Amino acid sequence: MEQLRHIPAIHTLQKQDKFSYIEETHSLPRAKLTAWLGEIVDLMRKQILAKDITLDLADESLLLEYIFEKLTKKVDDHLQSNKLQRVINATGVVLHTNLGRARLSEQAIKQISETAENYSTLEYNVKTGKRGSRHDIIENYLTELTGAEAAIIVNNNAAAVFLVLKALAENKEVIVSRGELVEIGGSFRISEIMAESNARLVEVGTTNKTNVADYERAINEETGLILKVHKSNFALIGFTAETDTDALVKLANKFDIPLYDDLGSGTLYDFKQEQIGFEPTVKEKINSGIDLVSFSGDKLLGGPQAGIIVGKKVFIDQLKQHQLARVLRVDKFTLAGLEATLKAYEMGTEKEIPTIRDIITSEETIKNRAQQFLQNIHDLNSDFHFSMERDLSRVGGGTMPTVELKTYVIQVKHKQLSSEKIAEKLRHNKIPIIVRVKNEMIQLDFRTIDEKEMAELTEAFLQIGERN
Ligand SMILES: *Cc1c(COP(=O)(O)O)cnc(C)c1O
Repeated sequence: MEQLRHIPAIHTLQKQDKFSYIEETHSLPRAKLTAWLGEIVDLMRKQILAKDITLDLADESLLLEYIFEKLTKKVDDHLQSNKLQRVINATGVVLHTNLGRARLSEQAIKQISETAENYSTLEYNVKTGKRGSRHDIIENYLTELTGAEAAIIVNNNAAAVFLVLKALAENKEVIVSRGELVEIGGSFRISEIMAESNARLVEVGTTNKTNVADYERAINEETGLILKVHKSNFALIGFTAETDTDALVKLANKFDIPLYDDLGSGTLYDFKQEQIGFEPTVKEKINSGIDLVSFSGDKLLGGPQAGIIVGKKVFIDQLKQHQLARVLRVDKFTLAGLEATLKAYEMGTEKEIPTIRDIITSEETIKNRAQQFLQNIHDLNSDFHFSMERDLSRVGGGTMPTVELKTYVIQVKHKQLSSEKIAEKLRHNKIPIIVRVKNEMIQLDFRTIDEKEMAELTEAFLQIGERN
């Protein structure tokens, strides 16, 4: 108790030169600094009561030094850390949803930054000098690249599903196979989004098998839509049957009911030609006669977050005219990033889009990077042990869940530090490094680490080495 009396009052602390100095050099609000002082002093009180402080409290100058050191630390942390900060993704998961999914291409970044800096033709037609439509900006790219008649962009693919259900099937029945009533990461459930949109879910078939007759039996005058949902994040194997697309298209045409396929990832690039997975391209889907297809902008496409809907003009027009289209519309940055990304497909330079590049990167290239890293950290710290191993990376983002991409990883061990501790230290690096932990072993997968990050990774290990 006696000890507590040594702690200076907040107003005394505020009168210190050191306080004014911090306040002036960082131009931080006085209220914020005062609140931090309060936190520091409160913590000291608790520590004193718990006899958990070694400081000589009777020494006033030492005490002040201690408090202002803590305050400076708080100020530094506050100034340094953005809540949204860049990280190095060493997990090898290309579309890591928690780490922001797709990294954008240089062109996309440039177009976004140019759009941010300047006025733009967001809703202005320079040819006519009249008002234009933001829908027009990328519709042409999408119709050319997918063969669809029309297109509309919304905030994400979840919004796309919601808009389609709301605009085409509100108060009507929507037929879905029991094998496709999925939940996508981040609690997006088909059944719940359906309830939210006031469409009535009609389940057909079984979990493992649904055939066209199941769909046909469910059709009546209340039917508004037939919905197919891509089994993005899992695979059904064994005794299974999915309804043939051609048969479903015929059925939908016969009864004049729109057929909508939520593709999830949806790809414009044909990964099959690289022997990676069996994902049909959006164009193949449209060619098969499906009326509407939707997919994400930031999954396999490799662009910004968006929901892209392509298909028959009659239906796209209905979506564009719906009130929700205004609610779900995207901003100019999304359109800028998307346009530049789609342009790469049009120009045939899509292999330079980071997402595609990283998925199709050869084992050899990754091996070279791993070897380069070994060279960089060679004899830096003997307490670390690094070894190169073959392993497999995943695409991620609930995309191509069964695909395993051959890769090389560096396995990291340390004489004193546990894997958990190493992972923690890497996370706390100036640029946080997120690693894969497999069999309680740290792995750095070089699939998702680019040139610029190689040096930063080396630097981080150097520093951790020094501090231990
Ligand atoms: C990822 C996914 C969604 C959600 O897309 P977002 O762009 O993340 O909103 C919806 N449906 C399927 C099948 C998906 O894979």
